[in-house]
Amino acid sequence: MSNAIKLSVPTFGGNEEVYTKMAIGSGQLATNGDFIDSFEEKFSNKLASHEIVALNSGTSSLHLSMVLLGIGKGDEVICQTFTFCASANPIIYLGATPVFVDSEPETWNISPELLEDAILDRIANGKKPKAIVIVHLFGMPAKIQEIMSIASRYQIPIIEDAAEAVGSTYRGDYCGTFGDVGIYSFNGNKILSAGGGGALVSSKINLIQRAKYLSTQAREDLPYYQHLEIGFNYRMNNLCASVALAQLEQLDEFVEKRREINANYRKLLEGFVGISFQPEANESKSNFWLTAILIDEEVTGFSNDQVRVALMKNDVETRFLWKPLHLQPVFKEIKYFGGNVAKSFFHKGICLPSSVNLTFEDQERIVDIFKKELAKTF
Ligand SMILES: *Cc1c(COP(=O)(O)O)cnc(C)c1O
Repeated sequence: MSNAIKLSVPTFGGNEEVYTKMAIGSGQLATNGDFIDSFEEKFSNKLASHEIVALNSGTSSLHLSMVLLGIGKGDEVICQTFTFCASANPIIYLGATPVFVDSEPETWNISPELLEDAILDRIANGKKPKAIVIVHLFGMPAKIQEIMSIASRYQIPIIEDAAEAVGSTYRGDYCGTFGDVGIYSFNGNKILSAGGGGALVSSKINLIQRAKYLSTQAREDLPYYQHLEIGFNYRMNNLCASVALAQLEQLDEFVEKRREINANYRKLLEGFVGISFQPEANESKSNFWLTAILIDEEVTGFSNDQVRVALMKNDVETRFLWKPLHLQPVFKEIKYFGGNVAKSFFHKGICLPSSVNLTFEDQERIVDIFKKELAKTF
């Protein structure tokens, strides 16, 4: 156990214990309380012109975003194929249909060209998409400028799934603040962990107010329970918010640490032909939630699965990149625009341990396994 290295575990080195005790001591554990208010205020201040609503997961935040944009039965929603299922599942919850789009090789996120192809095709078929879900995979900002100009040309709202990109920036602004609505996740292994949690981000105060109303069962402001609409139980609770606030206080530190881990891997694996990293453009600053690499088996002589097994034998946990959604059995009937870009990333890629508490010695041990067990000739 002592030598085990996990893929991504939370670090609770700040005020987590203090705030959690305060939350319990105050008796405020439900979906209203001081920590929810402080967390939202502190996070909103960080995002400048945007506000957040604290919710209970990234998935519920995506679902609520789509409700706010009026997505419903029979609608089509474009979604990046190279992502976790939670980006697309809420489309199905609403009786709408996803349309998947492939990635481009420069950020590994949705290809602007293929996005436009998909929009034009769907419009030609009388099915103008109701929204576009873009994702910043492993924390890496997508080609936001290009995507936004296409979205505005066709007047289609963007839902920015920044679940993995809390603290990442693009041209100096935070990911999550570019779309009509953005979302974050604070689940157990994301860069900020609140046990479970999420947030919805918007610059539109009416959307923020409506998100607060709908996420607390759409209760009218009356002395008894009166409902004019169907709501959701999606609000973050005050106990989770106490952890979330303590984590938020350390966000800048966490981002710098994960970036340092990424830079160390790049240095340690430098000159190892056949291994390449998720590229970062000048205009982007990834939080490097996870360091992701591609292994060209024809060059290295070993596959991503051999890396996984070799590291597992040494108690080191890794994870394959997301299996593209258009290749998931559950989505096999769904329309797809693109080729084999995301698919080849899935076949070649692997995520390396990236926890904030990872030491340089841990990283050396991991890279030594590459050198000793895998590349006998390195
Ligand atoms: C984690 C994640 C989500 C879902 O967040 P939860 O808080 O686990 O519900 C959504 N999209 C992406 C890309 C994620 O990585």
